[in-house]
Amino acid sequence: NVKEPTNLNTIADEYFRLAYHGLRAKDKSFNAELVANLDPNLPSINIVSQDVGRVLLNMFTNAFYAVHQKQKTIGGDFKPRVEVSTRVIPAPPSGGGGAQVEIMVKDNGSGIPDAIKDKIMQPFFTTKPAGEGTGLGLSLSYDIIVKAHKGHININSKEGEGSEFIITLPVA
Ligand code: ADP
Ligand code: MG
Repeated sequence: NVKEPTNLNTIADEYFRLAYHGLRAKDKSFNAELVANLDPNLPSINIVSQDVGRVLLNMFTNAFYAVHQKQKTIGGDFKPRVEVSTRVIPAPPSGGGGAQVEIMVKDNGSGIPDAIKDKIMQPFFTTKPAGEGTGLGLSLSYDIIVKAHKGHININSKEGEGSEFIITLPVA
């Protein structure tokens, strides 16, 4: 559990497929369009890659779950899509912080109702049936990204339309 220079693209790509195939193993009829836009010039960052990997795996699992839910309610006309993208955000020229690496996970799934938006980061908060979610994923993500790596998590979501989870981590 030590921080090592890591390219986020490598773990993003690996866990993206793992999450998708994990859900497909449970429901063979599940299909989604997977889009990966990984910046080939992404700088390596100093992270505990196992921990950040768990964060990404949870985000991807949540995204595939959300599109799966929507597919089950809407049916054949809905085209599930999950996108992962990475990019580097250069340091502002006038000081005030260094460069950052951003990873975004975007789904066109069920979205997050306004009424629960302020609860989803809390430990044990879940909308999933017992056995499908512990509600620990996002609270753990907060500890790993914000507390242990001095990064940020931003969420944009609209009920019925989908969600965007954006993580930024400092380069240096
Ligand atoms: P769990 O996945 O075990 O429920 P998480 O902490 O990962 O726990 O997520 C908490 C809750 O946040 C989920 O139960 C769900 O209600 C909501 N959520 C997280 N990601 C998404 C998403 N991509 N789309 C819709 N809801 C989401
Ligand atoms: Mg989860």
